[in-house]
Amino acid sequence: MSYYAPTFGNIEAGWYSDEKFDATWTQDCDALLAEYTDRYAPFLLAYISRFQKEVLARFKIKLTAQNIDYAILSKAAKNPYIRAKWKEAHQELEGCVRECLFCAGSFGLLDTHPNVIKNCGTDVRWCRGCNYNFWRYASIWSDDLGTKVQNAKQTAHERRKCNWCSKGFNLLKHFYSSRSFADQGMVLTTLIGHENFAAGHSGVDFLYPNLFVDICPECFAKCFHPVKTWDHAEILSAIRRLGEMIGKIPTQDFDSYIYLFSTSSSISEFISVMHVLPNPEEIKARFGSFFGGIAKSGLLPDGAKRMKIGTMVLAEDGDLCFSLPERDIDNWLFSHGIKHQKEVKYPGSDLRCDWELFGFSQRIFVEYFGLMNRASYADKARMKIEIAQGAGIHLIEIFPDTDWKRLLEQTKTEQGGAPKTHPLHASCLVADAPCTSRATG
Ligand SMILES: [Zn+2]
Ligand SMILES: [Zn+2]
Repeated sequence: MSYYAPTFGNIEAGWYSDEKFDATWTQDCDALLAEYTDRYAPFLLAYISRFQKEVLARFKIKLTAQNIDYAILSKAAKNPYIRAKWKEAHQELEGCVRECLFCAGSFGLLDTHPNVIKNCGTDVRWCRGCNYNFWRYASIWSDDLGTKVQNAKQTAHERRKCNWCSKGFNLLKHFYSSRSFADQGMVLTTLIGHENFAAGHSGVDFLYPNLFVDICPECFAKCFHPVKTWDHAEILSAIRRLGEMIGKIPTQDFDSYIYLFSTSSSISEFISVMHVLPNPEEIKARFGSFFGGIAKSGLLPDGAKRMKIGTMVLAEDGDLCFSLPERDIDNWLFSHGIKHQKEVKYPGSDLRCDWELFGFSQRIFVEYFGLMNRASYADKARMKIEIAQGAGIHLIEIFPDTDWKRLLEQTKTEQGGAPKTHPLHASCLVADAPCTSRATG
């Protein structure tokens, strides 16, 4: 069975129905789906979430269904133009076999998992198993990188000498290994051919640094050791080096950063930073919050720094805010004992709110809408308002002229206020450590 034929899930038979979904579907949706078919057929399944987002952005329609894949594919199968085009594109690719760049195994293009197509496009060069390890290569792909991979494969059996410990090793045994800053122990995971694979789960692959330098499995693993015993000053200087090397304030996605570098000197320097850098959890434990560590490292001189996106400023509880009014609001929440978390994603979306508040009878998001005179900003704000409405989230909208203190006081009273039975711990108020004993009523 192919993921990409109208026979997928027996959709063609027209058994799937969802009245609520049908009621939201419009001719505009049909027209856009036809465009997607022209562009991506037969790989519609891989582009369902992109389609869903575009429908929301362009037509302000939130498509939801019990099974959104089946729901949208059913619409595709019911439209004669789309179905014909879809079938034809599928027939053309039947039997199309490619050789995997990494493992040299052959794979059917139509057997490629939708997540892989989503990451790599239809030009995919590697099989589903290898994608688990090497998915990050999709966004940095170049001919040069391809040549380096080929060379590494051909010389995998040759003895290399580790630049760090001088021990001998070769690439054969650990070619498909990866490690992550999220690792709990010292287990080298080898995941090739793993059945329950999901795209984009593995951290840093062992091959990548070895395309530029020679680093043995042990010295590689040291980067990800969950317990690093360096003193505070050394840790802070590693955080500062990290920020300087990547040229921005680091987020907690440490695994992603090595892929920004592609010369032996920068990879080598970055690995020396990674050897000292603890994982985000350890930074939180040492410095109160992740951004507390960032601030103490000196990456934010005077507590505020002009960034491309605007001012970044640290609130009293360690939350990173993007404007002074935002900081004032954050400090107010903190001093009034309202548990909150910054930058929480809207359900089913990559958009983030300024704060989620905890301890109330329903989900409450707060937005400081400071730049509504910009069209793109206003569009995004409208999308957020609609998503919140659809998801039953109470959204508190604050504009530059809003008396937000009164508004927040009022919400606190109306929505039941912060729970009195729950004593406030400083740790519960920290953005990165939402309290586990959240009150529900
Ligand atoms: Zn492969
Ligand atoms: Zn070594």
